[in-house]
Amino acid sequence: MIRTRQLSYRYPGGPALVFPDVDVPQGTVLLLSGPSGCGKSTWLALVAALAAPTSGALTVADQPLGTLKNIAADAWRARAIGFLPQKLHLSAALSVQQNLVLAQWASGQPEEPVRIHEALSALGVQDLAQHKPAQLSGGQAQRVALARAVLMQPRVILADEPTASLDDEAAADAVGLLLNTALAQGATLVIASHDARVAALIPSDAGGRIGFQPLQLKRCQR
Ligand code: ADP
Ligand code: MG
Repeated sequence: MIRTRQLSYRYPGGPALVFPDVDVPQGTVLLLSGPSGCGKSTWLALVAALAAPTSGALTVADQPLGTLKNIAADAWRARAIGFLPQKLHLSAALSVQQNLVLAQWASGQPEEPVRIHEALSALGVQDLAQHKPAQLSGGQAQRVALARAVLMQPRVILADEPTASLDDEAAADAVGLLLNTALAQGATLVIASHDARVAALIPSDAGGRIGFQPLQLKRCQR
């Protein structure tokens, strides 16, 4: 569940980015679209409590974020949010397995090899556990990053431009994986994308189980 009210954010010296209110019920999908620079990545940062809004209020996975600071925000994020960033940020020195161990550790949980194996298996990359990120194709790396993002079964999955620089087939795969993963875990899914192909890849009614709503951000108000 994500609920925002009169949310705005201003980078130092920049214009205020003003966001429309949304109510995203648990287990449904929000497509956050709009041209580059309209604030999609910023909105994701607010929902992930990586940044605090300049004004307005938001509640994510039953947690009002206005009062959440620093360490508490980090702990909450590690449990509640699965973030698939545009740049994947897999640690180059670590194996795939170790990257997921690190995520488990960051969420305050003991290492659970079975859970890691299950997460990698669900995304079809279990055979790559001992590989280093540099040995992976782009698609494989994205699957690993998604496995890491959803390892702790977050209530909310945020994906930033998941189809950027992918051909049509790989883009369809990426969106399909996100939808299937969210559905399997009952997570709320937000896909932020300026890629016009993405809307067509999200079924408006996937068997009645996924409610889907678009949120179109306009050019930022100056
Ligand atoms: P989008 O993801 O939709 O492309 P962003 O959220 O990245 O948009 O950026 C929204 C606006 O905020 C843009 O005008 C961008 O230049 C500006 N912006 C983003 N990050 C920063 C930053 N760290 N400092 C200053 N301005 C920023
Ligand atoms: Mg962006």
